[in-house]
Amino acid sequence: MIIAGNWKMFRGPDPHALVGLDAIVCPPYTRLRDCVEAGLTTYAQNVHWEPEGAYTGEISAPMLLELGVTGSLVGHSERRQYFGETDETVAGRTRAALEAGLNVIACVGETLEERERGETDDVLRRQLSVLEPHPNLVLAYEPVWAIGTGRTATPEMAQEAHELIKSLIDAPVLYGGSVKPDNAATLLAQPAVDGALVGGASLDVDSFTAICQAAARIPS
Ligand code: PEP
Repeated sequence: MIIAGNWKMFRGPDPHALVGLDAIVCPPYTRLRDCVEAGLTTYAQNVHWEPEGAYTGEISAPMLLELGVTGSLVGHSERRQYFGETDETVAGRTRAALEAGLNVIACVGETLEERERGETDDVLRRQLSVLEPHPNLVLAYEPVWAIGTGRTATPEMAQEAHELIKSLIDAPVLYGGSVKPDNAATLLAQPAVDGALVGGASLDVDSFTAICQAAARIPS
């Protein structure tokens, strides 16, 4: 089971309070060093597709590796929604990060409108069509309507989407979207759910710890 905490643009908890947890943390860039120094498995929230160049505001895979960061999220729906991230830029970031030796958690998922129009499968197929299997690639199914809304996919919805994703790319698939201590066990118990990408609940040490403990109780 893989549990990753996405702190988004929040300061997040004291990294030392998380030492010993079997989890990945994805803090903002300014806190990467603190997390690495505390000994946490630390991923960035994004990574550029070029190793260097005139790309103001971006950070490259070699820069992250130099800090001791071991992976990155790519294609989070907030990047797609607010920062013009496309399937092509997600593909470029993923490829560059994997080639440089980083692990990648690539996020996919449909909006509410797409689900209501019955387009979930098509959206997932399109988003995944630009990615290729790689030993260091993990996918995260994050239905956009469940992120930060308190609305979670049912375990059946998650299972169904994960099965489709796995049929398209052979990779572990995390579920993300309002995972909390009280729903983690049921979601994680689904056979095609290999872990969780946790936003809001990862900002609180107790709730993140409870989710990690729920994951540890799921038989492998
Ligand atoms: C996320 O940030 O990827 C996420 C799933 O957020 P939340 O758990 O708050 O819905």
